[in-house]
Amino acid sequence: MPTRLLIVGGVAGGASAAARARRVDESAEVVVFEKGQYISFANCGLPYYVGSEIENRDNLLVATPKLFKDRFRIDVRTMSEVVEIDRAKKEIKVLNHMTGETSAERYDKLILSPGAMPVRPPLPGIDLDAIFTIRSLPDTDSIKAYVDEKRPKAAVVVGGGFIGLEMAENLVRRGVSVTIVEALDQVMAPLDFEMAALVNEQLMSEGVTLRLKESVKGFRKEGAGLVVETSGGEIACDMALLAIGVKPDSALAAKAGLELGARGGIKTNEFMQTSDPDIYAVGDAVEVEDYICGGATLIPLAGPANKQGRIAADNALGRKAAFKGTQGSAIVRVFDLTVAATGASEKTLKRNSMPYMVSYTHSASHAGYFPGGRMMAVKLIFAPESGKVLGAQIVGGSGTDKRIDVIATAIRAGMTVFDLEELELAYAPQYSSAKDPVNMAGFVAANILKGDAATVNWNEIDALEPEKYMLLDVRNKPELDNAGFIKGGVHIPLHELRGRLGELGKDKTIAVYCAVGLRGYIASRILTQNGFKAVNLSGGYRTYSAAKKAASGIRP
Ligand code: FAD
Repeated sequence: MPTRLLIVGGVAGGASAAARARRVDESAEVVVFEKGQYISFANCGLPYYVGSEIENRDNLLVATPKLFKDRFRIDVRTMSEVVEIDRAKKEIKVLNHMTGETSAERYDKLILSPGAMPVRPPLPGIDLDAIFTIRSLPDTDSIKAYVDEKRPKAAVVVGGGFIGLEMAENLVRRGVSVTIVEALDQVMAPLDFEMAALVNEQLMSEGVTLRLKESVKGFRKEGAGLVVETSGGEIACDMALLAIGVKPDSALAAKAGLELGARGGIKTNEFMQTSDPDIYAVGDAVEVEDYICGGATLIPLAGPANKQGRIAADNALGRKAAFKGTQGSAIVRVFDLTVAATGASEKTLKRNSMPYMVSYTHSASHAGYFPGGRMMAVKLIFAPESGKVLGAQIVGGSGTDKRIDVIATAIRAGMTVFDLEELELAYAPQYSSAKDPVNMAGFVAANILKGDAATVNWNEIDALEPEKYMLLDVRNKPELDNAGFIKGGVHIPLHELRGRLGELGKDKTIAVYCAVGLRGYIASRILTQNGFKAVNLSGGYRTYSAAKKAASGIRP
């Protein structure tokens, strides 16, 4: 008897599982149930359709039920919601939203990929018109129609995560003035504060108003517009978009008695098997192992969902494949800035009481002498003893994507910062430098571990005791005049330092800084080899000043 494999949910994880199932087993009977009208649509492209960068709606439909039938001999039933799983009978109940009828379907194996729902807290006025969430194509149609027809002048985006930022950018593209309200003290929660500070700068330069550490209390109508009431006051606008996160759509699984994890996601093992060995679950609805810190986590991203779909299909059809955990590699474009992260952040490691060290580098995307290069800020996080790479965050222009992927790969391979120093990466002046930004991050981190460069971080330098430390700025005078400086220091440009060592005392440690950390490192080498004690500000004044500006701009 061929295996009867039923799949709940027909988008990222579900469609991927279905196509894989057919490639693995030509004889299996594969049926996909999707409660919505569409399968396999491009969730990740939805904001760009609102912004009209993707002009043709059909381009969002990656595959259709007809393609699944013709190419894969897979029966796809849309408008078909699975409302119950009878595990004893190995049957599901399906409600057909076209006819209103319910039918039963037998399964040998079942794969659940129901996704996650946007959080919609029960705030006063939450159900008013012009308050949107974005998950599906119909949601997107409503937002686009509203923007096309009503021509809103102002919008409030609630939540500064990646969907919030994408929607902010696309609304600005459509001529809407945007305010982002975010309860945390930063946007882009996967980043650490000082890296997110660089994103703040970009948003503000594009005219987006940022209201951090402010939470929404409710909504009310006022005339033709909407008022968003927040902990910091009121914001008048024409529309609001809620992007305050998603929660796993695990109700069907819970009703069937499948085990859930502490975060509300469906519990699975490495084979994507739930607590019922004949039922697998994948995607945004499941809890998976955190690749760096261990323990269960929820990472609602398309890459893991697609891979888990393949793995579940393999296992359901008799192969053995394991999912080894998620490291949370993510990337987002924020206007012309690229913001990317992989592995653990500093705050996650702190929360997990795991030891770590960090380095900051600012490198050009390609050789300085070739036109068009842009700086990227790289934060590398690594284990103190072994130098094993634990995470990275990069904020920059072109080439940011390539560098985060190299580091993501290094993390999977268990590499150390010493390995990053050695990586031989492709170089021509249009693409990189002979020392790639990933090599540079490796050099700086390795210098720290080898004791060649003692560093102090942006959040430590202000607390250095004046009795024990003196500040030394080694930039050139116009840089201080233009960008500012840290108060209380001495200024000696790097090129004059060797000749002016006599002006410095050996009784205190010299905390050196420059623009991005490179000249500070050279200065610290000069100093230590001349018998001084020195530490260098990692990431230089650029990292320090962006973080300080962000911290001072936050409303109390
Ligand atoms: P989904 O793709 O959401 O599919 C679940 C499907 O199951 C839904 O269509 C739902 O209708 C259906 N369903 C639920 N319950 C039932 C039921 N009982 N019966 C039948 N059908 C059911 N990720 C990235 O990695 N990069 C990005 O750039 C990115 N951008 C995004 C932008 C937006 C606007 C959104 C909303 C998401 C974005 N994501 C992105 C996240 C990514 O889309 C998800 O991680 C991924 O789609 C999860 O796959 P899934 O199969 O778990 O869920």
